[in-house]
Amino acid sequence: MRDLQYAPPERRLADESGRAPMVETHDLSRDYPMPGGVVRAVREVSVRVGHGQLVALRGRSGSGKTTLLSMIGALDRPTRGSVAVDGLVVSDLPESQLIAFRRTNIGFIFQAFGLMPILSAAENVEVPLRLVRSDPKERDQRVLELLELVGLGGRANHRPHELSGGEQQRVAVARALANRPDLLLADEPTGQLDSSTGRAIMVLLQQLIRSEGVTAIVATHDPMLIDLADRVIELQDGRVVDDSRPTA
Ligand code: ADP
Ligand code: MG
Repeated sequence: MRDLQYAPPERRLADESGRAPMVETHDLSRDYPMPGGVVRAVREVSVRVGHGQLVALRGRSGSGKTTLLSMIGALDRPTRGSVAVDGLVVSDLPESQLIAFRRTNIGFIFQAFGLMPILSAAENVEVPLRLVRSDPKERDQRVLELLELVGLGGRANHRPHELSGGEQQRVAVARALANRPDLLLADEPTGQLDSSTGRAIMVLLQQLIRSEGVTAIVATHDPMLIDLADRVIELQDGRVVDDSRPTA
């Protein structure tokens, strides 16, 4: 993990080997108090995810996938329990440090792509690089490199509406990787794509894990994509009910 000025050393944990897991949660829970009673969206989830894995987070709609990803990515705070990312206990970080933490360490990919419609593919990929005030020359270089990486070198000047759904999601993947995050969190990234395009996006993520050394946690309820994962964590009513590792 880079750029830890905002992370006091006492907030970092490590295992015996000196390297902390990419993600570690302890009894992680999120309740939503509602007029009709408390919704227990995530319940006592304790998982460790190693570096360089593609993890599928499976479960029906409403099983807690988005809530869990949001807490791992520090977009939402737990009601109880803790989340550590690469040894940094993000659930304890003050609000003022969360933005910097997310920008430098996490890449987010959403179902609806989340691209800015008035910006070109290249400009969309550039947004996170501008936010960390990277050097403009290196920035241009990185944008080109990222578009090549996702197979869109020839689409740099296209606006999102001039791209197919699969291409838009590739731009979103490139954008998520811009600041070289250690962790990619993808929330049903193939949900709006047909099955073969969805599979191509998942294969791309798998390749990026190998080539860029990132870890990815991908929420999906598409059974066709599950076989591409190194590990499958299944949620039901906010709890982990299955945690299989087909190849890892
Ligand atoms: P999934 O992503 O697997 O579909 P979610 O994490 O979105 O599941 O939702 C888990 C449960 O929490 C659902 O019952 C959902 O209705 C509830 N929930 C999610 N977000 C909120 C919220 N902001 N307020 C109240 N309830 C919520
Ligand atoms: Mg969801």
